Amino acid sequence: MKLDPTSDEFRAAAHRAVDWIADYLDHIRDYDVLSRVQPGDIEKQFAAQASEDGKPYDELLRDFETKIVPGITHWNHPAFFAYFSNTGSQAGILGELLCAALNGNGMLWKTSPSLTELETLSLRWLRDALGLPNDLFGIINDTASINVFFALAAAREALGLDIRGKGMTGRDLPPLRVYCSEHAHSSVDKAALALGFGQTAIVHIASGDDFRMRPEMLAEAIARDRAAGALPCAVVATLGTTSTVAIDPLPEIAAIAKREHCWLHVDAAYAGSAAIVPEFQWLWRGIEHADSIVVNPHKWLFTPMDCSVLYTKRPDVLRQTFSLVPEYLKTTDTAEINYMDYGLQLGRRFRALKLWLVLEHYGLERMRNTLRDHVRFAERLADELRKRNDVELLAPQSFSVVVFRLKAGDDATMQLMERMNATGKLFVSHTKMRGQYGIRVAIGNGATEWEDVAQVLAFLG
Ligand code: PLP
Repeated sequence: MKLDPTSDEFRAAAHRAVDWIADYLDHIRDYDVLSRVQPGDIEKQFAAQASEDGKPYDELLRDFETKIVPGITHWNHPAFFAYFSNTGSQAGILGELLCAALNGNGMLWKTSPSLTELETLSLRWLRDALGLPNDLFGIINDTASINVFFALAAAREALGLDIRGKGMTGRDLPPLRVYCSEHAHSSVDKAALALGFGQTAIVHIASGDDFRMRPEMLAEAIARDRAAGALPCAVVATLGTTSTVAIDPLPEIAAIAKREHCWLHVDAAYAGSAAIVPEFQWLWRGIEHADSIVVNPHKWLFTPMDCSVLYTKRPDVLRQTFSLVPEYLKTTDTAEINYMDYGLQLGRRFRALKLWLVLEHYGLERMRNTLRDHVRFAERLADELRKRNDVELLAPQSFSVVVFRLKAGDDATMQLMERMNATGKLFVSHTKMRGQYGIRVAIGNGATEWEDVAQVLAFLG
Protein backbone atom coordinates (compact mmCIF):
# COMPACT_ATOMS: atom_id res chain seq x y z
CA MET A 1 0.00 0.00 0.00
CA LYS A 2 1.37 3.39 -0.94
CA LEU A 3 1.87 5.62 2.09
CA ASP A 4 1.19 8.87 0.22
CA PRO A 5 -0.94 8.09 -2.86
CA THR A 6 -0.66 11.68 -4.11
CA SER A 7 0.94 14.90 -2.93
CA ASP A 8 -2.35 16.85 -2.97
CA GLU A 9 -3.08 16.65 0.74
CA PHE A 10 0.54 17.44 1.56
CA ARG A 11 0.63 20.44 -0.76
CA ALA A 12 -2.43 22.02 0.85
CA ALA A 13 -1.23 21.30 4.38
CA ALA A 14 2.29 22.52 3.67
CA HIS A 15 0.94 25.80 2.29
CA ARG A 16 -1.08 26.20 5.47
CA ALA A 17 1.95 25.35 7.58
CA VAL A 18 4.10 27.93 5.81
CA ASP A 19 1.36 30.54 6.28
CA TRP A 20 1.25 29.59 9.93
CA ILE A 21 5.04 30.02 10.22
CA ALA A 22 4.96 33.46 8.58
CA ASP A 23 2.07 34.58 10.84
CA TYR A 24 3.89 33.17 13.85
CA LEU A 25 7.03 35.15 13.07
CA ASP A 26 5.02 38.32 12.31
CA HIS A 27 3.11 38.12 15.59
CA ILE A 28 5.59 36.38 17.82
CA ARG A 29 5.48 39.13 20.44
CA ASP A 30 1.83 38.12 21.08
CA TYR A 31 3.07 34.86 22.61
CA ASP A 32 4.36 34.47 26.16
CA VAL A 33 8.07 33.77 25.79
CA LEU A 34 8.07 31.16 28.53
CA SER A 35 5.45 28.44 28.34
CA ARG A 36 3.14 28.44 31.37
CA VAL A 37 2.00 24.80 31.23
CA GLN A 38 2.51 22.44 34.15
CA PRO A 39 4.33 19.08 33.89
CA GLY A 40 2.06 16.54 32.17
CA ASP A 41 -0.33 19.15 30.74
CA ILE A 42 0.74 18.51 27.17
CA GLU A 43 0.86 14.73 27.26
CA LYS A 44 -2.54 14.31 28.86
CA GLN A 45 -4.29 15.97 25.92
CA PHE A 46 -3.40 13.07 23.65
CA ALA A 47 -4.69 9.52 23.29
CA ALA A 48 -2.94 6.76 25.22
CA GLN A 49 -2.13 4.86 22.02
CA ALA A 50 -1.07 5.81 18.52
CA SER A 51 -3.84 6.26 15.99
CA GLU A 52 -4.88 3.11 14.08
CA ASP A 53 -6.53 4.83 11.15
CA GLY A 54 -4.60 8.07 10.84
CA LYS A 55 -5.92 11.60 10.83
CA PRO A 56 -6.11 14.35 8.21
CA TYR A 57 -3.49 17.09 8.27
CA ASP A 58 -6.16 19.72 9.00
CA GLU A 59 -6.97 18.10 12.31
CA LEU A 60 -3.29 17.65 13.15
CA LEU A 61 -2.39 21.24 12.33
CA ARG A 62 -5.24 22.30 14.64
CA ASP A 63 -3.79 20.03 17.35
CA PHE A 64 -0.38 21.53 16.73
CA GLU A 65 -1.73 25.04 17.30
CA THR A 66 -4.03 24.36 20.21
CA LYS A 67 -2.33 21.50 22.05
CA ILE A 68 1.37 21.69 21.24
CA VAL A 69 2.20 25.38 20.78
CA PRO A 70 1.02 26.25 24.33
CA GLY A 71 3.81 24.01 25.61
CA ILE A 72 6.45 25.84 23.59
CA THR A 73 8.94 28.24 25.10
CA HIS A 74 9.59 30.58 22.22
CA TRP A 75 13.30 30.50 21.51
CA ASN A 76 12.61 32.54 18.37
CA HIS A 77 11.06 35.37 20.44
CA PRO A 78 12.93 38.69 20.27
CA ALA A 79 12.74 38.95 24.08
CA PHE A 80 14.21 35.50 24.70
CA PHE A 81 17.25 36.52 26.76
CA ALA A 82 17.82 33.31 28.73
CA TYR A 83 20.83 30.98 28.38
CA PHE A 84 22.16 31.74 24.89
CA SER A 85 19.36 32.11 22.40
CA ASN A 86 19.22 29.68 19.51
CA THR A 87 18.92 32.18 16.75
CA GLY A 88 16.56 30.99 14.08
CA SER A 89 15.84 33.00 10.96
CA GLN A 90 13.57 32.80 7.97
CA ALA A 91 16.42 31.64 5.70
CA GLY A 92 17.29 28.97 8.27
CA ILE A 93 13.70 27.75 8.45
CA LEU A 94 13.61 27.43 4.66
CA GLY A 95 16.83 25.40 4.85
CA GLU A 96 15.30 23.01 7.38
CA LEU A 97 12.18 22.59 5.23
CA LEU A 98 14.16 21.71 2.11
CA CYS A 99 16.54 19.51 4.11
CA ALA A 100 13.58 17.45 5.34
CA ALA A 101 12.26 17.12 1.79
CA LEU A 102 15.56 15.76 0.48
CA ASN A 103 16.06 13.52 3.52
CA GLY A 104 19.67 13.16 2.41
CA ASN A 105 22.37 11.29 4.22
CA GLY A 106 25.90 12.57 3.74
CA MET A 107 27.81 9.69 5.27
CA LEU A 108 29.86 9.31 2.08
CA TRP A 109 30.47 11.86 -0.64
CA LYS A 110 28.63 9.65 -3.13
CA THR A 111 25.56 9.25 -0.92
CA SER A 112 24.81 12.87 -1.86
CA PRO A 113 27.72 14.86 -3.25
CA SER A 114 25.94 18.16 -2.55
CA LEU A 115 25.73 17.38 1.16
CA THR A 116 29.48 16.98 1.43
CA GLU A 117 30.47 19.73 -0.93
CA LEU A 118 28.10 22.34 0.52
CA GLU A 119 29.40 21.53 4.00
CA THR A 120 32.99 21.98 2.83
CA LEU A 121 32.12 25.17 0.96
CA SER A 122 30.01 26.85 3.63
CA LEU A 123 32.54 26.02 6.36
CA ARG A 124 35.31 27.51 4.23
CA TRP A 125 33.23 30.67 3.73
CA LEU A 126 32.46 30.80 7.43
CA ARG A 127 36.09 30.21 8.41
CA ASP A 128 37.23 33.07 6.20
CA ALA A 129 34.39 35.34 7.35
CA LEU A 130 35.37 34.69 10.96
CA GLY A 131 39.00 35.53 10.22
CA LEU A 132 40.21 32.09 11.29
CA PRO A 133 43.45 30.58 9.93
CA ASN A 134 43.00 29.23 6.42
CA ASP A 135 44.46 25.80 7.12
CA LEU A 136 41.46 24.69 9.19
CA PHE A 137 39.29 21.73 8.21
CA GLY A 138 35.65 22.01 9.30
CA ILE A 139 32.82 19.63 10.03
CA ILE A 140 29.26 20.27 11.21
CA ASN A 141 27.86 18.26 14.09
CA ASP A 142 24.79 18.78 16.19
CA THR A 143 26.19 20.51 19.27
CA ALA A 144 29.29 21.95 20.90
CA SER A 145 28.96 19.15 23.44
CA ILE A 146 29.54 16.43 20.87
CA ASN A 147 32.26 18.51 19.21
CA VAL A 148 34.29 18.81 22.41
CA PHE A 149 33.87 15.05 22.81
CA PHE A 150 35.40 14.54 19.36
CA ALA A 151 38.17 17.05 20.10
CA LEU A 152 39.13 15.33 23.35
CA ALA A 153 39.01 11.93 21.65
CA ALA A 154 41.46 13.27 19.06
CA ALA A 155 43.60 14.79 21.83
CA ARG A 156 43.80 11.38 23.47
CA GLU A 157 44.73 9.73 20.19
CA ALA A 158 47.40 12.37 19.59
CA LEU A 159 49.23 11.20 22.72
CA GLY A 160 50.57 8.28 20.68
CA LEU A 161 49.64 5.70 23.32
CA ASP A 162 47.63 3.59 20.88
CA ILE A 163 44.51 3.97 22.97
CA ARG A 164 42.54 3.23 19.79
CA GLY A 165 44.27 -0.13 19.52
CA LYS A 166 44.74 -1.16 23.12
CA GLY A 167 42.14 0.78 25.09
CA MET A 168 42.70 2.40 28.47
CA THR A 169 42.28 -0.44 30.90
CA GLY A 170 44.38 -3.46 31.82
CA ARG A 171 47.61 -1.73 30.86
CA ASP A 172 50.19 0.47 32.43
CA LEU A 173 49.07 3.97 31.45
CA PRO A 174 49.74 7.15 33.38
CA PRO A 175 46.64 9.01 34.58
CA LEU A 176 45.62 11.52 31.92
CA ARG A 177 44.67 15.13 32.59
CA VAL A 178 42.38 17.64 30.88
CA TYR A 179 42.51 21.30 31.97
CA CYS A 180 39.83 23.95 31.67
CA SER A 181 38.72 27.03 33.56
CA GLU A 182 36.41 26.68 36.53
CA HIS A 183 33.88 28.49 34.32
CA ALA A 184 34.20 26.18 31.31
CA HIS A 185 30.98 24.61 30.08
CA SER A 186 29.95 21.34 31.71
CA SER A 187 30.14 19.64 28.30
CA VAL A 188 33.94 19.55 28.70
CA ASP A 189 33.56 17.48 31.87
CA LYS A 190 30.90 15.28 30.32
CA ALA A 191 33.06 14.56 27.28
CA ALA A 192 36.04 13.66 29.47
CA LEU A 193 33.82 11.40 31.57
CA ALA A 194 32.35 9.64 28.56
CA LEU A 195 35.84 9.12 27.11
CA GLY A 196 36.95 7.30 30.23
CA PHE A 197 39.39 9.95 31.49
CA GLY A 198 37.64 9.77 34.86
CA GLN A 199 36.44 12.64 37.00
CA THR A 200 39.82 13.11 38.68
CA ALA A 201 41.37 13.78 35.29
CA ILE A 202 39.39 16.99 34.84
CA VAL A 203 41.31 19.85 36.40
CA HIS A 204 39.40 23.10 36.86
CA ILE A 205 41.75 26.05 36.85
CA ALA A 206 40.95 29.04 39.02
CA SER A 207 39.98 32.31 37.40
CA GLY A 208 40.70 35.91 38.35
CA ASP A 209 38.21 38.61 39.38
CA ASP A 210 37.24 38.90 35.73
CA PHE A 211 36.37 35.15 35.60
CA ARG A 212 39.12 34.49 33.04
CA MET A 213 41.36 31.48 33.51
CA ARG A 214 44.63 32.35 35.29
CA PRO A 215 47.45 31.02 33.08
CA GLU A 216 49.93 30.86 35.94
CA MET A 217 47.52 28.54 37.77
CA LEU A 218 47.34 26.37 34.66
CA ALA A 219 51.14 26.16 34.50
CA GLU A 220 51.27 25.30 38.20
CA ALA A 221 48.62 22.58 37.88
CA ILE A 222 50.42 20.97 34.96
CA ALA A 223 53.75 21.03 36.78
CA ARG A 224 52.14 19.51 39.88
CA ASP A 225 50.48 16.77 37.82
CA ARG A 226 53.67 15.94 35.96
CA ALA A 227 55.56 15.68 39.23
CA ALA A 228 52.92 13.24 40.45
CA GLY A 229 53.31 11.09 37.33
CA ALA A 230 50.16 12.20 35.44
CA LEU A 231 50.18 12.94 31.70
CA PRO A 232 48.66 16.27 30.59
CA CYS A 233 46.57 15.59 27.48
CA ALA A 234 44.46 18.62 26.61
CA VAL A 235 43.78 22.20 27.56
CA VAL A 236 40.40 23.76 26.84
CA ALA A 237 40.28 27.55 26.62
CA THR A 238 36.87 29.20 26.56
CA LEU A 239 36.34 32.33 24.52
CA GLY A 240 32.99 33.39 25.96
CA THR A 241 32.08 31.44 29.08
CA THR A 242 28.48 30.46 29.59
CA SER A 243 27.79 32.48 32.71
CA THR A 244 29.49 35.79 31.97
CA VAL A 245 31.13 35.51 28.51
CA ALA A 246 34.60 35.80 30.03
CA ILE A 247 37.37 35.46 27.46
CA ASP A 248 40.22 33.25 28.63
CA PRO A 249 43.69 34.68 27.84
CA LEU A 250 44.38 32.51 24.82
CA PRO A 251 47.94 33.61 23.90
CA GLU A 252 49.24 32.76 27.38
CA ILE A 253 47.25 29.54 27.58
CA ALA A 254 48.38 28.53 24.09
CA ALA A 255 52.04 29.07 25.00
CA ILE A 256 51.65 26.72 27.98
CA ALA A 257 49.75 24.11 25.97
CA LYS A 258 52.44 24.17 23.31
CA ARG A 259 55.29 23.88 25.80
CA GLU A 260 53.52 20.97 27.50
CA HIS A 261 52.58 19.20 24.25
CA CYS A 262 48.88 19.37 25.10
CA TRP A 263 46.09 19.50 22.53
CA LEU A 264 44.54 22.98 22.65
CA HIS A 265 40.77 23.06 22.19
CA VAL A 266 39.05 26.44 22.01
CA ASP A 267 35.40 26.63 22.98
CA ALA A 268 33.96 29.68 21.24
CA ALA A 269 30.49 28.16 20.97
CA TYR A 270 28.70 31.45 21.60
CA ALA A 271 31.18 34.30 21.13
CA GLY A 272 32.90 32.88 18.06
CA SER A 273 30.08 34.05 15.79
CA ALA A 274 30.87 37.65 16.75
CA ALA A 275 34.10 37.38 14.79
CA ILE A 276 32.33 37.90 11.47
CA VAL A 277 32.50 41.53 12.67
CA PRO A 278 36.05 42.75 11.99
CA GLU A 279 36.22 44.85 15.17
CA PHE A 280 35.51 41.73 17.26
CA GLN A 281 38.22 39.59 15.70
CA TRP A 282 40.60 40.48 18.55
CA LEU A 283 38.80 37.55 20.15
CA TRP A 284 41.01 35.17 18.19
CA ARG A 285 44.37 36.41 19.47
CA GLY A 286 46.46 33.25 19.78
CA ILE A 287 44.00 31.12 17.78
CA GLU A 288 46.70 30.01 15.32
CA HIS A 289 47.90 27.64 18.06
CA ALA A 290 44.53 25.92 18.53
CA ASP A 291 44.29 22.29 17.49
CA SER A 292 40.50 22.49 17.45
CA ILE A 293 37.86 25.20 17.74
CA VAL A 294 34.10 25.12 18.20
CA VAL A 295 31.71 27.80 16.96
CA ASN A 296 27.94 27.34 17.10
CA PRO A 297 26.07 29.11 14.29
CA HIS A 298 22.93 27.92 16.11
CA LYS A 299 23.82 30.13 19.04
CA TRP A 300 24.47 33.51 17.43
CA LEU A 301 24.54 33.21 13.67
CA PHE A 302 20.88 32.95 12.77
CA THR A 303 21.02 29.23 11.94
CA PRO A 304 18.30 27.13 13.60
CA MET A 305 19.08 24.25 15.95
CA ASP A 306 21.16 22.34 15.44
CA CYS A 307 24.42 23.44 13.83
CA SER A 308 27.75 23.39 15.62
CA VAL A 309 31.03 23.64 13.74
CA LEU A 310 34.26 21.90 14.69
CA TYR A 311 37.37 23.30 13.05
CA THR A 312 40.69 21.56 13.36
CA LYS A 313 44.11 21.96 11.85
CA ARG A 314 44.71 18.26 12.50
CA PRO A 315 41.96 16.47 10.56
CA ASP A 316 44.37 13.57 10.11
CA VAL A 317 44.22 12.89 13.87
CA LEU A 318 40.43 13.20 13.94
CA ARG A 319 40.29 10.74 11.07
CA GLN A 320 42.74 8.38 12.70
CA THR A 321 40.53 8.47 15.81
CA PHE A 322 37.22 7.76 14.15
CA SER A 323 37.64 6.22 10.72
CA LEU A 324 36.43 2.65 10.47
CA VAL A 325 35.14 1.56 7.09
CA PRO A 326 33.29 -1.75 6.80
CA GLU A 327 33.10 -3.46 3.44
CA TYR A 328 29.60 -2.20 2.64
CA LEU A 329 30.79 1.43 2.93
CA LYS A 330 33.93 1.10 0.84
CA THR A 331 34.00 3.29 -2.25
CA THR A 332 36.08 3.48 -5.37
CA ASP A 333 35.52 7.17 -6.03
CA THR A 334 38.26 9.70 -5.50
CA ALA A 335 36.36 12.00 -3.14
CA GLU A 336 38.68 13.56 -0.62
CA ILE A 337 36.14 13.76 2.17
CA ASN A 338 33.69 11.25 3.48
CA TYR A 339 32.50 13.04 6.60
CA MET A 340 31.62 9.78 8.34
CA ASP A 341 35.39 9.36 8.87
CA TYR A 342 35.61 12.36 11.20
CA GLY A 343 33.20 11.49 14.00
CA LEU A 344 30.90 8.92 15.54
CA GLN A 345 27.93 9.43 13.30
CA LEU A 346 27.46 7.41 10.18
CA GLY A 347 24.24 9.00 8.93
CA ARG A 348 24.56 12.77 8.64
CA ARG A 349 21.75 15.12 7.76
CA PHE A 350 22.08 18.10 5.46
CA ARG A 351 22.78 20.76 8.09
CA ALA A 352 24.97 22.70 5.68
CA LEU A 353 21.91 23.60 3.60
CA LYS A 354 20.51 25.94 6.25
CA LEU A 355 23.93 27.43 6.98
CA TRP A 356 24.53 28.02 3.26
CA LEU A 357 21.09 29.62 2.92
CA VAL A 358 21.71 31.89 5.91
CA LEU A 359 25.11 33.00 4.65
CA GLU A 360 23.94 33.51 1.07
CA HIS A 361 20.59 35.12 1.78
CA TYR A 362 21.55 37.66 4.41
CA GLY A 363 25.13 38.26 3.32
CA LEU A 364 27.82 38.97 5.87
CA GLU A 365 27.28 42.72 6.11
CA ARG A 366 23.65 42.45 7.20
CA MET A 367 24.53 39.84 9.81
CA ARG A 368 27.45 41.95 11.04
CA ASN A 369 25.13 44.89 11.55
CA THR A 370 22.64 42.76 13.46
CA LEU A 371 25.40 41.47 15.75
CA ARG A 372 26.69 45.02 16.22
CA ASP A 373 23.16 46.04 17.28
CA HIS A 374 23.06 43.22 19.84
CA VAL A 375 26.34 44.34 21.36
CA ARG A 376 25.20 47.98 21.36
CA PHE A 377 21.97 46.98 23.15
CA ALA A 378 24.00 45.14 25.79
CA GLU A 379 26.31 48.14 26.23
CA ARG A 380 23.35 50.46 26.61
CA LEU A 381 21.68 48.16 29.11
CA ALA A 382 24.91 47.93 31.12
CA ASP A 383 25.28 51.74 31.03
CA GLU A 384 21.74 52.20 32.33
CA LEU A 385 22.25 49.61 35.06
CA ARG A 386 25.51 51.23 36.17
CA LYS A 387 23.65 54.52 36.74
CA ARG A 388 21.45 52.90 39.38
CA ASN A 389 22.25 52.67 43.07
CA ASP A 390 20.19 49.54 43.69
CA VAL A 391 21.89 47.37 41.06
CA GLU A 392 25.40 46.14 40.32
CA LEU A 393 26.92 44.27 37.41
CA LEU A 394 28.10 40.86 38.52
CA ALA A 395 30.67 40.72 35.72
CA PRO A 396 31.93 43.10 33.05
CA GLN A 397 29.44 43.30 30.18
CA SER A 398 30.84 41.16 27.36
CA PHE A 399 29.60 41.00 23.78
CA SER A 400 25.79 40.76 23.96
CA VAL A 401 25.51 39.55 27.55
CA VAL A 402 24.87 41.52 30.74
CA VAL A 403 24.77 39.92 34.19
CA PHE A 404 23.48 41.97 37.12
CA ARG A 405 22.13 41.62 40.65
CA LEU A 406 20.13 43.68 43.05
CA LYS A 407 22.24 44.99 45.90
CA ALA A 408 19.33 44.03 48.17
CA GLY A 409 20.62 40.44 47.91
CA ASP A 410 20.06 37.03 46.38
CA ASP A 411 16.41 36.67 47.36
CA ALA A 412 15.49 40.03 45.90
CA THR A 413 17.45 39.23 42.72
CA MET A 414 15.78 35.88 42.19
CA GLN A 415 12.34 37.31 42.96
CA LEU A 416 12.92 40.02 40.39
CA MET A 417 13.77 37.36 37.82
CA GLU A 418 10.65 35.36 38.66
CA ARG A 419 8.54 38.52 38.35
CA MET A 420 10.01 39.29 34.94
CA ASN A 421 9.51 35.79 33.60
CA ALA A 422 5.96 35.50 35.00
CA THR A 423 4.81 38.31 32.70
CA GLY A 424 5.59 36.23 29.63
CA LYS A 425 6.96 39.37 27.98
CA LEU A 426 10.59 38.33 28.27
CA PHE A 427 12.64 35.40 29.50
CA VAL A 428 15.88 35.80 31.42
CA SER A 429 17.86 33.15 33.30
CA HIS A 430 20.22 33.20 36.24
CA THR A 431 23.73 32.26 37.22
CA LYS A 432 25.72 32.23 40.41
CA MET A 433 29.16 33.81 40.54
CA ARG A 434 31.31 33.74 43.67
CA GLY A 435 28.28 32.84 45.75
CA GLN A 436 25.99 35.58 44.44
CA TYR A 437 23.01 35.12 42.16
CA GLY A 438 22.82 37.22 39.03
CA ILE A 439 20.30 37.71 36.23
CA ARG A 440 21.70 37.04 32.76
CA VAL A 441 20.41 39.00 29.80
CA ALA A 442 21.76 37.37 26.64
CA ILE A 443 20.73 39.10 23.42
CA GLY A 444 20.89 37.15 20.19
CA ASN A 445 17.66 37.14 18.22
CA GLY A 446 17.60 38.62 14.72
CA ALA A 447 14.39 40.56 15.45
CA THR A 448 15.36 42.02 18.84
CA GLU A 449 14.95 45.77 19.20
CA TRP A 450 16.08 48.07 21.99
CA GLU A 451 12.47 48.21 23.26
CA ASP A 452 12.61 44.46 23.94
CA VAL A 453 15.75 44.88 26.01
CA ALA A 454 14.52 48.03 27.75
CA GLN A 455 11.76 45.95 29.37
CA VAL A 456 14.43 44.79 31.82
CA LEU A 457 14.87 48.38 33.02
CA ALA A 458 11.13 48.92 33.33
CA PHE A 459 11.01 46.22 36.01
CA LEU A 460 13.50 48.11 38.10
CA GLY A 461 11.20 51.14 38.21
N1 PLP B 1 30.22 25.83 25.32
C1 PLP B 1 29.70 26.96 25.80
C2 PLP B 1 30.61 28.10 26.15
C3 PLP B 1 28.31 27.07 26.00
O1 PLP B 1 27.79 28.19 26.51
C4 PLP B 1 27.49 25.97 25.66
C5 PLP B 1 26.03 26.05 25.83
O2 PLP B 1 25.47 27.05 26.19
C6 PLP B 1 28.08 24.81 25.14
C7 PLP B 1 29.45 24.77 25.00
C8 PLP B 1 27.26 23.61 24.77
O3 PLP B 1 26.55 23.93 23.63
P1 PLP B 1 25.62 22.84 22.90
O4 PLP B 1 24.24 23.08 23.41
O5 PLP B 1 25.76 23.16 21.45
O6 PLP B 1 26.13 21.50 23.24
